[in-house]
Amino acid sequence: MLPVIALVGRPNVGKSTLFNRLTRSRDALVADFPGLTRDRQYGQGKVGGRPYIVIDTGGISGDEEGIDAEMARQSLQAIEEADLVLFIVDARAGLTAADEMIAKYLRENDKKAYLVVNKTDGLDADAWSAEFYALGMSNEPYKIAAVHNRGVTAMITELLEKLPNSEPETPEQEAAEQPLEEENDSGLAEEALKHSERELRFGIIGRPNVGKSTLVNRILGEERVIVFDHPGTTRDAITIPFERNGKKYTLVDTAGIRRRRNVTETAEKFSIVKTLQAIKECNVAVMVMDARTGLVDQDLHLLSFVLESGRSVVLAVNKWDKLDQEIKDKIKQDVTRRLGFVDYADIHYISALHGTGVGELFRSVEKAYKSATSHWSTNRLTNLLQDVVSEHQPPMINGRRIKLRYAHQGGLNPPIIVVHGNQTDALPNSYKRYLMNTFRKVLKVTGTPLKFEFRSGE
Ligand code: GDP
Ligand code: GDP
Repeated sequence: MLPVIALVGRPNVGKSTLFNRLTRSRDALVADFPGLTRDRQYGQGKVGGRPYIVIDTGGISGDEEGIDAEMARQSLQAIEEADLVLFIVDARAGLTAADEMIAKYLRENDKKAYLVVNKTDGLDADAWSAEFYALGMSNEPYKIAAVHNRGVTAMITELLEKLPNSEPETPEQEAAEQPLEEENDSGLAEEALKHSERELRFGIIGRPNVGKSTLVNRILGEERVIVFDHPGTTRDAITIPFERNGKKYTLVDTAGIRRRRNVTETAEKFSIVKTLQAIKECNVAVMVMDARTGLVDQDLHLLSFVLESGRSVVLAVNKWDKLDQEIKDKIKQDVTRRLGFVDYADIHYISALHGTGVGELFRSVEKAYKSATSHWSTNRLTNLLQDVVSEHQPPMINGRRIKLRYAHQGGLNPPIIVVHGNQTDALPNSYKRYLMNTFRKVLKVTGTPLKFEFRSGE
């Protein structure tokens, strides 16, 4: 499981600036889910090869009636889910009453929190440091200037090294993000073989109330559960190994298979941290949506997070029971149009409640995993490239034709195809699309992103 870092502090101390530093270009997943606070941001980052999740909890100003209530409403879940709380104060503003209230809260609730003094740029350390000791935090304060990225990397590196669940990524995980060089081509074949022997890990994700728990119950209820250990943590996804038709699977569950007692439990049960952990843990994500509400922005938001992580995906539109044909047609039309950007993923219209369509869903999960972990020889890819080129020549640039000479596989899960040639920088997008679509079709790649890299020999 990825370590989780929560940023707390009053407004304007630089939490968002630090959040952006820690997540860099990676998109934040803004938690605008119903029943949850709007101003919490989630993101992923990596320092020194160690990946983590960051939560920006939104400001706690202390002006509200009752700091405890406010803390509870805004930040409690985030703090609860965190391995590490960074308590940020502002060197320029100095110590405030709100800082003292937050410190008291953290101390009393026995949270592993570290004091971070931000905006130390251009300030004399003696001028500000003493007063923050009054907060009674146990660590020597980290002095940073988030806006200049000063002290940030050193701080995070040191803190991550102390965490038991922070591990540098394995070469295999690293490869998924950074394409390998061609020398490793034969290693990929071995990798692919290993994957085919390993059990498939799939996660069921989606916003609250779309029917995830119902689907999990349906899947597990029908099959023999080998082990079922339920450590009731609030933030970790639960993994459940089981067998289906003689094949082993592991379900990465975010919903909790125990039936919830009432509707107000939804928000508690739903956790973005869990969802992010599950995406990281699985090979294939089954993204559940709700036919009754139709697609909403939050669905698309979650889906793009899955795709960005390079995971395979199978789409399930749930609650397909007892709908008029007219409404069904309308929903299908809407889904096809709005999910056009993942037209390589299978879509199933299912009823978790009645079990309709669940078998087909499994077949798509299998297919997506197989695609994501396939290996194609350099020979096969190069022949295919040559077919593509002879069907349609790339254009001339400055009187010289763009040449595409050979292709090899640079990684799997998701697969990466590296195309070598001359002037590939000038290759028009329309040509790239033609090439990518043809490769996808001929190689029968479904359910997984297929990445391309173009390299020039000049
Ligand atoms: P938040 O409300 O805690 O999320 O604070 P923001 O990240 O929005 O920052 C509040 C203001 O402080 C912005 O104008 C930032 O540019 C500024 N700021 C953030 N970090 C630093 C820093 O290290 N040094 C200085 N001088 N200003 C900073
Ligand atoms: P979760 O929050 O995503 O885990 O959603 P739940 O599994 O708790 O389901 C939310 C509500 O939708 C419950 O009242 C379910 O009974 C209902 N539900 C789930 N699947 C279906 C379905 O296929 N059809 C219908 N009609 N209702 C469903």
